[in-house]
Amino acid sequence: MLQASISKKLKIEGFGLHTGGYSSLILHPEGPDTGIWFVYRGKSIRAHFLNVVDTTRATSLGSDGVLIRTVEHLLASLYILGIDNLTIELIGNNELPILDGSGFHYFRLLRGNIRHFNKPKELASIQKPIKVELDKASITAIPCEKPVFSYAGFIKGLFDLREVYFKGFAPQVIYARTFCYLEEVNNLLSQGFGKGASDKSVLVLHNGKPVNAKMRYIDEPLRHKLLDLIGDFALFGARATFCIRSLMGNHRLNIELLKSLSLFATFSKSSFVSTP
Ligand code: ZN
Repeated sequence: MLQASISKKLKIEGFGLHTGGYSSLILHPEGPDTGIWFVYRGKSIRAHFLNVVDTTRATSLGSDGVLIRTVEHLLASLYILGIDNLTIELIGNNELPILDGSGFHYFRLLRGNIRHFNKPKELASIQKPIKVELDKASITAIPCEKPVFSYAGFIKGLFDLREVYFKGFAPQVIYARTFCYLEEVNNLLSQGFGKGASDKSVLVLHNGKPVNAKMRYIDEPLRHKLLDLIGDFALFGARATFCIRSLMGNHRLNIELLKSLSLFATFSKSSFVSTP
């Protein structure tokens, strides 16, 4: 697999899910071995798990007093498309646009504008399973032949346990929107979350059914959790050559997995391993 960036400067803008503020993103092409960087108010922050400062309802990066919120849907689109070198300039509000709540608008913007370099990607490998746990949730990275990311969980009122998979095909996850349960809406708002939420960006569930929009997949909320896992994994800085199985994981546990992986994984550059 070869490293990639974008072929030209791209722009996208919109309201942040939690802050409700408006921001513009300018995506700048970068050369090989640069990595993915955010720039906000003159500060550069690498898209790396060591820079994660908050995982409550979204993944936020921070450094030197600068906070960049809700990075995971753009990062998931970048990982799915194999883009590993980019500068993301954020202007205005400090939260990335939520758009339609999924990764689709980022994916659509990027997919026709990819430029590959004649340099192999950094790949991460493990020799034995690595597991992180928190309460009833767990995430396990497992050596396997063809990397697959999966998420198993339940949706209240709809099904008890179901597993969804990302095997490298964007449609398996890219349209899945952010969601919440109707009964938690007031609580979230009172805690300062979801100020920019609307029927266009958040699927609201009650008794196992969406109350404000139609489901794009029968198990759309689980697929969104899987999209979040991919986006958080993009903060590892290397491509997975192993499988990742999440059982009711969340942003916090995703980042814990990356911390554990960083202790045990080996890194090598190769141009022939296929990954999701
Ligand atoms: Zn999300």
